[in-house]
Amino acid sequence: AHADCAPLPVLGQTVEVPLVSGEKVTYAALDYAASAPALQRVWDDVAAYAPYYGSVHRGAGYLSQLSTDLFEQSRRTVADFLDLPEGHQVVFTRSTTDSLNLLAAVLPAGTRVLAFETEHHASLLPWRRDGLTTTYLPAPRSPRQAVETLVTALQTAPEGPKLLCVTGASNVTGEIWPIAELTEAAHRHGARVVLDAAQLAPHQRVSVRELGVDWVAFSGHKLYAPFGAGVLAGRSDWLDAAEPYLAGGGASRTVARDDDGGVTVEWNSGPARHEAGSPNVIGAYAVASACRALAEAGFEALEAREQQLLARLRAGLAEVPEVQVLGLFGDAHPTVGVLSFVVRGWNSSHFAAALSAEYGIGVRDGLFCAHPLVRTLLGGTEDAPSECGAPEPSLPGERSLNAIRVSFGAGTPDEHIERFLGAV
Ligand code: PMP
Repeated sequence: AHADCAPLPVLGQTVEVPLVSGEKVTYAALDYAASAPALQRVWDDVAAYAPYYGSVHRGAGYLSQLSTDLFEQSRRTVADFLDLPEGHQVVFTRSTTDSLNLLAAVLPAGTRVLAFETEHHASLLPWRRDGLTTTYLPAPRSPRQAVETLVTALQTAPEGPKLLCVTGASNVTGEIWPIAELTEAAHRHGARVVLDAAQLAPHQRVSVRELGVDWVAFSGHKLYAPFGAGVLAGRSDWLDAAEPYLAGGGASRTVARDDDGGVTVEWNSGPARHEAGSPNVIGAYAVASACRALAEAGFEALEAREQQLLARLRAGLAEVPEVQVLGLFGDAHPTVGVLSFVVRGWNSSHFAAALSAEYGIGVRDGLFCAHPLVRTLLGGTEDAPSECGAPEPSLPGERSLNAIRVSFGAGTPDEHIERFLGAV
């Protein structure tokens, strides 16, 4: 069925897990949206590089120089992967959360940040800091309404720097957001845009040049490179004008004692300004390896395969009348391989636990660190749990307080989707 693209080899595909029945089955990871398994290729690249690992930037030895080259080459690979325009920069971070907190820390004082309330908490919360104002926009029910809501908010916003933070694809519904349209509207009204590509980049080509966004953030561990690195890439001006996100070695060009008994510091510009301390070279190298692997496999082929699996998943779930699939924009709206649902008469946490214990399938249940969105989708107003996980179980038959999420990607074989549908 997928002659054009076989699943890419990933780790963990042959791991056997025990079931309550006493049998063992191979683990079916359907939780890619939380963390995707490493591509075998990424693992191999990291293993091949590990013997040559050395400190970067400040070492005179051969392996330090080699590591520095690989680290800086990784930056260029990521820049190519994102189709970054000239003059933009790639800063290596720990994750999307870290990238967005970095951006929040460098915004000019008085910046107004706009975010739809439907965002992941990583896109909702970093802006709640002194010197910034946050405007939360209500959940839109169509892409067009999203653009209209943004335009209305920008038309009535006071003068001053503005930033829209928006996701490329929802971590709850998988729905793809109208990024080019939102960016065009934002720019027309004097706002910049940061794209949270945590869920989009693993599934679709993200071209900063074509989308027009000013910054993009993503995580290695969702892009088949689970080695603790993330990326913030984009325009240099605000990054170079701000105090470093992390102060320390590497961020500073010169440090000297001054006459008042303190020190004066001249900070670096460019990515080093915000990457103080010894960077996660292996993580950056792994991200670059994943970027290369995905580019070589080709997003066209990967997407074609993923959309076939998605169509099968949706058709299978549609045969189960108790299942309600969640979405803001309607069934026909395009999504990536991320889908959340509730099952009438079932507590979502129990349902997910049964998928694991009886079928060896790993999904996620809860509110997915997007409490306002999931509450809107479930039509509820109850207090959410304090963390990203599940609230107290409701009784069978009660309205769901949380949902089940199934998500997959480049390594998913057909059998995982079939097993999941059989189990449901
Ligand atoms: N944004 C979105 C859309 C996400 O799905 C996630 C992770 N679930 C994040 C941001 C945060 O990513 P990380 O945990 O890697 O920082």
